[in-house]
Parts: sequence; C-alpha cells; structure tokens
Amino acid sequence: MDCVFCKIIKGELPSYKIYEDENFLGFLDIRPLNPGNSILIPKKHYRWVYDVPNFGEYWEAAKKIVIATEKTIKPNSINFLTLGYEVPHAHIRIIPRFDNDNHTDGIRLSAIKNISKERMEEIANKIREAIKSVKS
Ligand SMILES: [Zn+2]
Repeated sequence: MDCVFCKIIKGELPSYKIYEDENFLGFLDIRPLNPGNSILIPKKHYRWVYDVPNFGEYWEAAKKIVIATEKTIKPNSINFLTLGYEVPHAHIRIIPRFDNDNHTDGIRLSAIKNISKERMEEIANKIREAIKSVKS
C-alpha cells in the first residue's frame, strides 16, 4: 500500500519523531500550521480515527503530547483536527495556538508556517524530552 504514514512507521521516510509506544507514533507535521504542530497516528493502518480499536488509549497518547507541547512550546491553547482527508491513514493533528497566528477562530489549512530544519529538530527534541516526564 502506498501510504505516506505507513512509510514513516516503517522508517522508509524520515520524520521528526516526538512520541512512540507499542501502538502509536507521534511526529512533527512537516507542513506545520504552527510551531510544534504534531501528528499522532496508529502504527497499524486504519482509515479513520474512529476505526482505531483502542480509541481511548489513542486519545490518552494525544494528551501526553499536549502536556509536553504546553510545557515546551507554551501556546495559548491546543487544537485537535481529525479531518482525515489529507492522508488516508487515521491521524490526529495536534496544533498549538498563539496570538495572531493567522488562523482566525478556526484552523486555516493554508496557513502553513515556514520553519527551518534546525528549528524543527529543536522543537522535536524538546517535546520528545518533555514527554518522558509525563505520567501515563
Ligand atoms: Zn497507512
């Protein structure tokens, strides 16, 4: 199957990894809608977020990323997006929000931020480190 997220899971495509457990993988979105924007996916291919059998665990893992993102990125709030159209593999988009972040009162999918590779690595390292101290 030609699925971008499955390729990331298999390590066939690089990613700025921030979270991994037995069932889920979290990494920074390479087309970030804001600094610290990450994506959490099940390691097994499911089409939609609501197809993931351990749905509660999935959101618990998302919360760990939220806590670590709050601590390191210090946004005003954090949004979840679960539209699911961009890549046909279940994914929760975790999007930190800031003042004047060009998204108005929703999320503008075109408001992609230009963030250098170095900065992306720095953000990924910080969130990954912070997640280690989040209690499960
Ligand atoms: Zn997939």
